[in-house]
Amino acid sequence: MTGTDPVAVVGAGPVGLTTALLLARWGVPSVVLERRPVREAIGSRSICQQRDVLDIWAAAGAGAIAEEGLAWTTARTFYRTRELFSWRFADAGTLPPCVNISQSRTEQILEECAAAQDLIEIRWNRDVTGLDQDADGVTLHCADGSAVRASYVVSCAGGRSEIRESLGIGLPGESFDDRFLIVDLHADLPGFEHERRFYFDPPWNPGRQVLIHACPDSRYRIDWQVPPNFSLADEMGPGLDRRIRQIVGSRPYEVGWVSVYTFHSRVADRMRCGRVLLAGDCAHQFAPFGARGLNSGVPDAENAAWKIAFVLRGWAPPQLLDSYDAERRAAALENLEVTSATMRFLVPQSEPGWTARRRALERAAGDPDAVAAIDSGRFAEPFWYTASPLTTPEPTRPPTGRPPKGAVHPPAPGVIVPDAPLPGGTRLRELLRDGFTLLLAADVPGDLATGLAGTAEGVPLRILRPADLDHRGGLATALGLRPGEVWLVRPDAHLAAILPRPTRAAVTAALHRALGFAAL
Ligand SMILES: Cc1cc2nc3c(=O)[nH]c(=O)nc-3n(C[C@H](O)[C@H](O)[C@H](O)COP(=O)(O)OP(=O)(O)OC[C@H]3O[C@@H](n4cnc5c(N)ncnc54)[C@H](O)[C@@H]3O)c2cc1C
Repeated sequence: MTGTDPVAVVGAGPVGLTTALLLARWGVPSVVLERRPVREAIGSRSICQQRDVLDIWAAAGAGAIAEEGLAWTTARTFYRTRELFSWRFADAGTLPPCVNISQSRTEQILEECAAAQDLIEIRWNRDVTGLDQDADGVTLHCADGSAVRASYVVSCAGGRSEIRESLGIGLPGESFDDRFLIVDLHADLPGFEHERRFYFDPPWNPGRQVLIHACPDSRYRIDWQVPPNFSLADEMGPGLDRRIRQIVGSRPYEVGWVSVYTFHSRVADRMRCGRVLLAGDCAHQFAPFGARGLNSGVPDAENAAWKIAFVLRGWAPPQLLDSYDAERRAAALENLEVTSATMRFLVPQSEPGWTARRRALERAAGDPDAVAAIDSGRFAEPFWYTASPLTTPEPTRPPTGRPPKGAVHPPAPGVIVPDAPLPGGTRLRELLRDGFTLLLAADVPGDLATGLAGTAEGVPLRILRPADLDHRGGLATALGLRPGEVWLVRPDAHLAAILPRPTRAAVTAALHRALGFAAL
């Protein structure tokens, strides 16, 4: 690492800051280049952050996001004046299943963490206008005439990215005409405090939907679907007050932020071009129902950070970075598919689509079995790298489809390992994030793993026996680790391999594959 140029991160949005923090965790210095003069301190934007993303932020030192966020418990869905169904998050787990927190506060926490890091330098007012790549690195050019030399670039420059365009990478997909009005509100709303409420066609927004989310400190985020010709300027004042009063009644309220947005469903042709990786909204944009925007940008950041760090530290070949595109673009395409299905239900683009939507809602009002057809957003989940070039398939542990909401997937190569509390107040995932991990069933001979680290020079490799970690002996069962098995877990807690008949050669081969050597 000595003498290596820093990694350049373009954009100090939440994905850029997370990338820099995770690189620093691996000891890799970075320079974050941001075109804005200062961080914007208002506006909720991304509010729902999912447990596995909170876990990544905790690893990045930003555990405050989970602590400060409001852990909501219940999602209720209404049609006109009637409640159709509700569900609760299944378990409390090690971290809340989901918290609501404004994106501006999330960015502030991330920025404070970055400021405390010697390995991160944030340069504001640096608009990156172009870059040149050569065999040894990348030179980034800024609008003020300055240039930065970097070993790699992670472009987290958001949706309108000139960098992506300059690399010749397209962002095909569609943009929708439908508009959404967002208001951040401060009010006391008894009964709403730990809920997400989704209203289809309420009498106070006929033919359209409204979404209400509780946030910390008695704040609420309300989204109204509004007609394509909606004018915010005309709405401000009595119109907006009337709209809000239909929800809060006569209670006092204060408006914090008002905005109108349209949304896009787009995924980049490629997420890597030489030494430049695209992450977050720079690589994909989704309709926000299901909260798959930032909740997928953060795993991009994690995937990019560990792989760049492993290459720069000499633990893995540069080919490891090919798997960034393979894994994260597949994740983006899954998110595109899921959110597009939601949009087809929420905002049909044809008259027959509207009729089908109305019929489905009417059916659901009288038939609990019909609620499965109601799609108000499938909540973000970690992607499974089952088809990744880094994953060693195992026929006895085939991946199955997504389990019902709240159920844990049986372990399979590529799937993320569930978190678990450990004695002493730590969590399993905290240990896994330090490098690769071999999880050994109680009956696997210890000498299988002795000296294995030497087979992949310098690679951080920890050997754990769940039976030793958990004195009550339930951890192996909870994870689904069978007698005789060895699991190889990646630094992002995804299973690289499950070896039912482990030998030193099999473990070494799986490790080499997970490091990208198999592609050589
Ligand atoms: C209404 C709404 C609700 C949403 N709700 C959710 C939700 O609940 N959950 C969720 O997960 N996601 C949600 N999202 C999506 C989420 O807001 C985005 O996915 C997230 O902002 C992406 O972060 P990012 O860092 O990739 O990009 P951005 O936040 O766009 O940051 C990009 C940064 O790069 C900078 N930049 C751009 N070009 C350059 C350049 N050339 N040089 C230097 N700097 C540059 C920009 O100034 C900016 O600071 C929502 C989005 C909207 C609009």
